[in-house]
Amino acid sequence: MPWKSRWTIPIPTQSLPSYLFTSPTAPLEDKPLLIDAEYPEYYLTQHTYREWSKRFALGLQQAGFQPGDRLLLYSGNTVLFPVILMGTIMAGGIFSGANPTYVARELAYQLQDSGATFLITAESSLKTALDAADSTGFSRDSIYVSDDGFSTLRGNPPESIDGLKHFSKLLPPAASATSLTWQDFSSRSQMDRTAVLNYSSGTTGVPKGVEITHLNYISNCLQTEYMAALSPDYPTLVKRARGLSFLPMYHAYGQTHHCVSSPKKGIPVYVMRKFDFVSMLQYIERYRITSLTLVPPIAVALTKRPEVREYDISSVTSAGCGAAPLGRESALDFDRTVARGGYRLRQGWGMTEITCSAIGWDPRSGITSGAVGELNPNIEGVIVGEEGREVGGQERGELWVRGPNVMKGYWKKAEATAETKTADGWLKTGDIAYREEGSGLIYIVDRKKELIKVKGNQVAPAELESLLLDHPAVQDAAVVGVVINGEELPRAYLVLQPKEQQQDQGQDQGQSHPTAPASWSSSSSSSSLSSSPRTIAAWLAERVAPHKRLAGGVVVVPDTEGIPKNPSGKILRKVLRERAKREVGDA
Ligand code: AMP
Repeated sequence: MPWKSRWTIPIPTQSLPSYLFTSPTAPLEDKPLLIDAEYPEYYLTQHTYREWSKRFALGLQQAGFQPGDRLLLYSGNTVLFPVILMGTIMAGGIFSGANPTYVARELAYQLQDSGATFLITAESSLKTALDAADSTGFSRDSIYVSDDGFSTLRGNPPESIDGLKHFSKLLPPAASATSLTWQDFSSRSQMDRTAVLNYSSGTTGVPKGVEITHLNYISNCLQTEYMAALSPDYPTLVKRARGLSFLPMYHAYGQTHHCVSSPKKGIPVYVMRKFDFVSMLQYIERYRITSLTLVPPIAVALTKRPEVREYDISSVTSAGCGAAPLGRESALDFDRTVARGGYRLRQGWGMTEITCSAIGWDPRSGITSGAVGELNPNIEGVIVGEEGREVGGQERGELWVRGPNVMKGYWKKAEATAETKTADGWLKTGDIAYREEGSGLIYIVDRKKELIKVKGNQVAPAELESLLLDHPAVQDAAVVGVVINGEELPRAYLVLQPKEQQQDQGQDQGQSHPTAPASWSSSSSSSSLSSSPRTIAAWLAERVAPHKRLAGGVVVVPDTEGIPKNPSGKILRKVLRERAKREVGDA
């Protein structure tokens, strides 16, 4: 049977900029809010965050940007990232962020799929951005280059960079933007306008633009805030809070926390332009950071890496972890060695398709477990078994959720939307879960969907498979995730073209040869053949962002065996995942 969150909260009718800044003119705090971690003299306050966003919105409008238009930002985190996000929305547009490690092909895909008419690129990624733009016929005239933002904040930005317009061209003087207003909403249906397209492959296929509306965004921020505010210490915690932004702002997790939720509450956020573990420790110590938003590899590194002992991280009083599974033992380890009994690491569960999160912990709970918590306010859940029937009593099945933070749909992909979201609003998460009787806590135990998560980043097997099929030596391909030393990694199974197979068998006596993921030490890895697992992996590595590389290994499967598929030709991923686990995975 479906069940409901213990809590219901009201969601006001307003637009996202009004939620964040109250109104275009309401008085706001003038204390440092979004602060560059390396050069803290560069910062925005709540007041200047709104002012710069208004300037940017006006600049876009003057450059011809229309309501509903899309803007794509291809950049790591900077203090001006949130300005570009909110300015785009203030101008009535739709913001989309691309992973700054994308190669040109990946960026070109998002550029085309979103139909963006403006592209802002980090200076360091300019070449890739130009390659992507040129390959899609995107006009160079609509590309703007942003640097670290310091020259813009100082007021002496360059005219252009490498012959392209500097992003500050979209920032008219503050005086001209004072009268800029954004549209506020007086009806619920207006809140269903899309504000953001965050990309996710969902349960199947290639990455898709997830349409997050104003209602979705505001609801999710209020839901998570409500959960946090259940703590009796909440007012003091907020007053003292200082956050560190190292999770990417193009992804729902970093974006909702550090561009909207924390700034709304006036919590200072130190922005790291690039993640580096030791720098993170230094900044925690230097700025007396109080709350950490973590993904499992960083949470685990905090418990294991020796450098941690060299820094004073005792200022931290809360830590959340999500985006991928974290075992109970790891959570307990964190509580013991990092939190030292002062607080508990709290897992949360989320998905790009639900804005950011739907399951979290009641902070008053005194237990640590492998559970991800319970449903956030205004959310319903149900566990659906194999044959589509609802299950209960701790039975495992696919978790479905419904609530105001569930996406409108996939951008211009009605079929994919219908496969993922039912007509009455249930989102099929693709995660296998059960709900503990009595406590109501939810455990995520497996993934039904094909998605692979590498250090919290998405890898869509379908994307890698279609690329691998472009390799002249590859006849068929399947990619699955395998967990090695606690980290999920993509691993490919390949059937080679007949000619390649003969050569390959000549080398390897017809054995299928799992290639050791770390050392690439199989017999064929020393081969000079263009079809060796190693060369195919290297070929793929040139075409994808680093986290999508086949670090879990490549296995050549004989033609006679083939890729396991069901009668309709669908890859039997479960079979391959089990095989991968037997071959190289963690027990
Ligand atoms: P994304 O859309 O990139 O946020 O990825 C969402 C997916 O990450 C979920 O559907 C899960 O498969 C996985 N995920 C997120 N949080 C957790 C968690 N706490 N435990 C296990 N898996 C998680």
